[in-house]
Amino acid sequence: MGARIIDGKAFAAELRGQVADHVARLGAEHGIIPGLAVVLVGEDPASQVYVRSKGRMTVEVGMNSYEHRLEPDTSEADLLALIARLNADPKVHGILVQLPLPGHLDEDLVINAIDPAKDVDGFHVSNVGLLGTGQKSMVPCTPLGCLMMLRAHHGSLSGMEAVVIGRSNIVGKPMAQLLLGDSCTVTIAHSRTRDLPDVVRRADIVVAAVGRPEMVPGDWIKPGATVIDVGINRIDAPENGAGKTRLVGDCHYDSCAEIAGAITPVPGGVGPMTIACLLANTVTACCRANNVPEPEGLTA
Ligand code: NDP
Repeated sequence: MGARIIDGKAFAAELRGQVADHVARLGAEHGIIPGLAVVLVGEDPASQVYVRSKGRMTVEVGMNSYEHRLEPDTSEADLLALIARLNADPKVHGILVQLPLPGHLDEDLVINAIDPAKDVDGFHVSNVGLLGTGQKSMVPCTPLGCLMMLRAHHGSLSGMEAVVIGRSNIVGKPMAQLLLGDSCTVTIAHSRTRDLPDVVRRADIVVAAVGRPEMVPGDWIKPGATVIDVGINRIDAPENGAGKTRLVGDCHYDSCAEIAGAITPVPGGVGPMTIACLLANTVTACCRANNVPEPEGLTA
């Protein structure tokens, strides 16, 4: 296996350390404690796990965590009323509504009800527009984490060919915007892309955000390219015992690692960076809300 492993777990631990330092400084110098409110509607087991770990890590870096767990049949009016209260609460600097929401709730309406300055997921249309026009915004956490690892690995990304596979609003599109912002030549591929292997083969940087287990094989990868695997897919693993499962990415790890210059593993790559970037975004939002200079290195 030739590729260098980009250790997202170690990156995330370092970023959380930086966040904790800034939180301590905000407290000591300004008497401010950043606060993150997480809203969970319903009982989706994966969402419950995410919300629990977000809450735990928020507290670990010294911030206040406010969890709001609502019944699955919560009305849109009640959810919007809670968001309005959180928007107005000066102790809350970041608001995250855990997605997906139950089907009777309009996700776009709910996300766009969040004060853009507190939208630490970066999904509000205002933040999408600001990012697209190269202005200061809240940057979606997963692509931000990918960008940080790419910058740390390469230094400048200027002039590199980047192929992003996937065009979702939460990963693919903002990832492409960030790479463009760093002067990559960017292609966004999706389910209708013709000759996907050939498109991927020209990339110096491949970001796979598809949601299909091990879809990208090593022979799609240009020798020496950097592979960022966003996918998190649970598959059966009978080799580990009856009924066992394991997590894999959207890239076939072993064959890609033979060819690539660097690769993020799954688990332990992009995933840990996502929550670390959420904490970083909360500190950024808190500094902006209080007119305190923003720390270096916590956003794009
Ligand atoms: P979506 O389902 O919203 O988007 C998937 C994208 O992949 C779509 O644009 C789709 O194209 C494209 N696609 C599907 N099939 C193919 C194909 N055969 N060839 C090329 N493109 C294809 O997924 P998300 O962006 O939300 O998530 C992607 C993956 O990343 C998932 O595995 C998810 O679990 C993971 N994820 C991981 C995070 C982390 O923290 N590490 C955070 C968020 C997501 P089209 O638009 O044409 O349908």
